Amino acid sequence: MTTGSGAGGSTVGLSVNQQGSHVLKIEELNERIRFLEKERSGLFDSCCELRSGYDTLMEAIGAANQKQVQAEMLSMELEQVFSSCADAMWVVREDKTVVRANDAMLALLGKSAEDVVGYRCCNLLEAPLYSDKNSPLKSAQSTIAAKEYDVSRKLPSGEQQHFIVTAAPLVTLDGTPGIVTQFKDITDRKQAEAALAKANIALARMARLDSLTQLPNRRSFDETIDQEWHRLAREEQELSLVLCDIDCFKQYNDTYGHQAGDECLRQVAKALGDCAKRAGDLACRYGGEEFIFLLPSTPLEGAIKFAERVRQAVEALSLPHGTSRAASVVTLSLGVATQVPCSDSLPDILLKAADDALYQAKDSGRNRVVAD
Ligand code: GH3
Ligand code: MG
Ligand code: MG
Repeated sequence: MTTGSGAGGSTVGLSVNQQGSHVLKIEELNERIRFLEKERSGLFDSCCELRSGYDTLMEAIGAANQKQVQAEMLSMELEQVFSSCADAMWVVREDKTVVRANDAMLALLGKSAEDVVGYRCCNLLEAPLYSDKNSPLKSAQSTIAAKEYDVSRKLPSGEQQHFIVTAAPLVTLDGTPGIVTQFKDITDRKQAEAALAKANIALARMARLDSLTQLPNRRSFDETIDQEWHRLAREEQELSLVLCDIDCFKQYNDTYGHQAGDECLRQVAKALGDCAKRAGDLACRYGGEEFIFLLPSTPLEGAIKFAERVRQAVEALSLPHGTSRAASVVTLSLGVATQVPCSDSLPDILLKAADDALYQAKDSGRNRVVAD
C-alpha cells in the first residue's frame, strides 16, 4: 500500500528499492488488469456470439419441431382420409403383399386388418378384380403410370358388382416401390344406366305405338313408308297401300257411346293386325277410325285381294251397328293404290291415290274395296 508522495517525488517511510518494487508491481497489476479487461471483452464477445448461436439454434429446433408436428398432423390427416374414404383402397408392395387397407377395403374383402396386412393381394381378391388383363396389380411396378379401368364381379347372390379401379404407383413407408389401388363401387350407377336404357327402349317403342289399339301409330307409318319408298325404288318393286275407314263410325259412337266406340276400334285393330301376316306387311292406326296397310313388293291385284280379305275379316267380327247405312254390323270401306316408287319423288301421290279410292268406296255405298 502506498502512503502518498511529496511534491519532490520522495515517498515517506519507503526505501528506493522498495519504491521501485512497488512501482513494478503496480505496473504488473495494471498490465494484468488490462489483460483481464481484454479477456473479459473477448469473453463478452464470445458470449454474445454464443448467445446469438444459441438463439439461432433454438429457432432452428423450434422450426424443426414445428415441421415435425405438421408432418405428424399431415400424416394423421392422410391416415384419416385413407381410412374413412368411402371407396375401398389398399397399398400393395412390389412383392404384392398388402401394406395397408382402409375400412371400406376390409369390408369389400370381408376380412379384418390382421387377415389382410402382410398377405399377398392375389390371395385376397378373386380373379376378376386382380387378374384382369389390364390390372396393374399383376405387375405392380413403380415405373407404371396411374391406370383406370372398369371391372365387374359376380356376387354369390348372382348380382353383378361393378367397379372403376384406379391404381397409381407410390413409394411405401419402408422405401420400397408399391401401388395404391382404389376400388370405386359403381354398381348403383350401372344399374341406373341399365334401367334408363331399358326405359328409353320402352319409351321409343311406346312413341311408335298407338296406345288405344297397340298397333303402330302414324309416326311409325311415316318412318316406315319413307324407308320402304327408297328401298323399293332401288329394287324397282311395287308398293301397295290399303287405306281403311270404319263406316258410319260417328253414328256408332252416338248409338253405343264413346267407350263402346273405343272397344270397337280395339277389336277392328286386332282383326287388321291379324291380317298382316307377311314379313314386311304393316298395319297402322292412321288416325281416328282410319287404318292403313303398307304392303311392300305387292302388285295391285294382290293388294285388292288382300283388301277384300280385310273387309271380310272385319265383317266377320259381327259387331252390331244398328245405325249404319252400310250394313247391320261394323264394316270397312277400303281404298287401294299401287306404285313403283321413284327415289326422286315422295309417297304423297300414292297416299293421295289410296285416299281417292277410299272416297270412291264411300261414295259408291261403303263396305267395299275400290282400287285407284
Ligand atoms: P264415314 O262412313 O263416311 O266414314 O262416316 P264416319 O262417321 O265413320 O266418319 P266421320 O269422319 O264423320 O266420323 C269419324 C268418327 O270417328 C268421329 C269420331 O268421334 C270417331 N273417332 C275418331 N277417333 C276415335 C276414338 O279414338 N275413339 C272413338 N270412340 N271414336 C273415335
Ligand atoms: Mg274417317
Ligand atoms: Mg268412317
